Amino acid sequence: MCGIVGYVGPKQAYDYLIEGLFRLEYRGYDSAGVALQDGSKISIRKKTGRVSQLADLCKLLPIHGTSGIGHTRWATHGEPSDTNSHPHTGGNGEVVLVHNGVIENYSILRDRLRELGYVFRTATDTEVAAHLVAHQLEEAVKLGDDPFEAETCVRAVESAVRQIKGTYGLAVMFRDVPGLLIATRFGSPLVVGMGRGEYFLASDASPLVGHTKEIVYLNDHETAVIKADSFVLRHQDGSAPALSIRALEQTSRDTDLGEFDHYMLKEIFEQPQTIENALRGRLDDEEATAKFGGLNLDPQSLGRIDRIVLTACGTSWHAGLVGEYLIEEFARIPVEVEYASELRYRNPPMADRTMIFAITQSGETADTLAALRECKRKGHPTLAICNTVGSTIAREADGGIYLHAGPEIGVASTKAFTSQVTVLTLLALLLGRMRHLSHPAGKRMISQLREMPDKIRQALKCFDAVKDVARKYYTAENFLYLGRLYNFPVALEGALKLKEISYIHSEGYPAAEMKHGPIALVDEDTPSVFIAPRCEIYPKVMSNLEEVKARKGPVIAIACEGDDKIAELADDVIYVPDVDEYLQPLVTSIPLQLLAYQIAIYRGCNVDRPRNLAKSVTVE
Ligand code: GLU
Repeated sequence: MCGIVGYVGPKQAYDYLIEGLFRLEYRGYDSAGVALQDGSKISIRKKTGRVSQLADLCKLLPIHGTSGIGHTRWATHGEPSDTNSHPHTGGNGEVVLVHNGVIENYSILRDRLRELGYVFRTATDTEVAAHLVAHQLEEAVKLGDDPFEAETCVRAVESAVRQIKGTYGLAVMFRDVPGLLIATRFGSPLVVGMGRGEYFLASDASPLVGHTKEIVYLNDHETAVIKADSFVLRHQDGSAPALSIRALEQTSRDTDLGEFDHYMLKEIFEQPQTIENALRGRLDDEEATAKFGGLNLDPQSLGRIDRIVLTACGTSWHAGLVGEYLIEEFARIPVEVEYASELRYRNPPMADRTMIFAITQSGETADTLAALRECKRKGHPTLAICNTVGSTIAREADGGIYLHAGPEIGVASTKAFTSQVTVLTLLALLLGRMRHLSHPAGKRMISQLREMPDKIRQALKCFDAVKDVARKYYTAENFLYLGRLYNFPVALEGALKLKEISYIHSEGYPAAEMKHGPIALVDEDTPSVFIAPRCEIYPKVMSNLEEVKARKGPVIAIACEGDDKIAELADDVIYVPDVDEYLQPLVTSIPLQLLAYQIAIYRGCNVDRPRNLAKSVTVE
């Protein structure tokens, strides 16, 4: 989490920094700050709260300078406060830096630095990095290095990060070397925008849109040494890595709100388009299969795979559960879905022919990245299902599948989920056709997949019905979400959406599991959302629904158009188009996204900036 920006060039840095922080605010928003360098003077403004509060402060107390850094924080160490906000200073103010990540050995380092006389003013782990760089600088100067030389500063940063255990994306300025910006990373993303006589730094590409078309992603252990007229990339060990300049494809339209009040709503309504994007060019009518450009695996290797591990966090993990059902049903390959945060430290037996898929919207999720690396280390083919082009996971995986859903800004993931499910359906089709699935069955899947953007368009028409339901239940303090088979992961995802943005306690369960515990929660004030479209075990789901009704629990049903029977049993029904069971998660998740959105609105919650959350979780 957290967003970093930086600028070096001829212009006043503040304009880029503040605009960039607004664009990165979805990554963390408990406090924000900027530091600007004007000659050998570095001024800092920082403030608890939103970037807009920082902007207000800077209007009141303007700062100037043609180089600078900025940060929007998601606190890990030390409460959100003005003091704990970044930037932080080291030594006597000769070093100023911002940090994304966690310094795990901060208390050992802090004790050591305290003994050396450094005074700590904040409760953050980051301040350790600032003093550490200052200390390394001091040591270098003692040995005769010139503190006014950029090279001395780079070496100080490199020696400091060598002592850090944990993760960091750092942007560092030096009081005595105006116009120098040093950025380095391990585990936290950083990207440099190449301008003409100016350079831009950011945690992801969104602040760079409109400023440059050429970008360079930093890899772990790389350091960018940036001045207005030069950009040097080096490895922390001093060697020179290959410089790979990429084209920035994002446009400002991708990140505009358009006619919508919130990004979450905009992204929900983008889903007909994003699903079409996920399918584009990937349906092979002739062979009745799916095709992907970037798997980088020959058909023989793909054919030999006899086990798949899908690893992810949060919503992506729910998409993985749908993927498990799909791949096992259509390709008959055993699938495990592992929380990345567990997999990275577990050591489950994994036979040679196991293929790993890391599922991630941002491509930067710290746990998913670590799990991917762990599996790679053990020699397994590691692939990514990822939305963000050029992200760390996309770069480090052996191959993968992009979602092409466009930037997802709303903290609660919506369109990425349905795109992940779409891509996993294509994967099940591809693997199925290499094994047991017949040509006609493949053809049928293809034609049904082609209909999905339209089906989603129809499903979105339920918004008015959803608003009525939300109005009726928005004061409830507990919700149950119940579904079976393909709709069990949808129940988990629906419950997650609600708790994320409305702070209502909600549980997702397989509907039949309810009687093994959660049914004890059922009462007149606890609505149960039954995801009950037509399916083979529809009568069984109805029995579960009756069990809730018998205990006076209000029931909201998500059902197929034309299902009048359910309307007699449920208190409220929201209808979605009828599709085959394996495609139901794509349509049944739509009303649940809208329900969570609308309930949050009625409760006065900030849907795009929910409490305690941030978009891309780049800390462990
Ligand atoms: N660990 C640092 C802090 O708590 C940085 C957190 C972040 O990445 O925003 O201040």
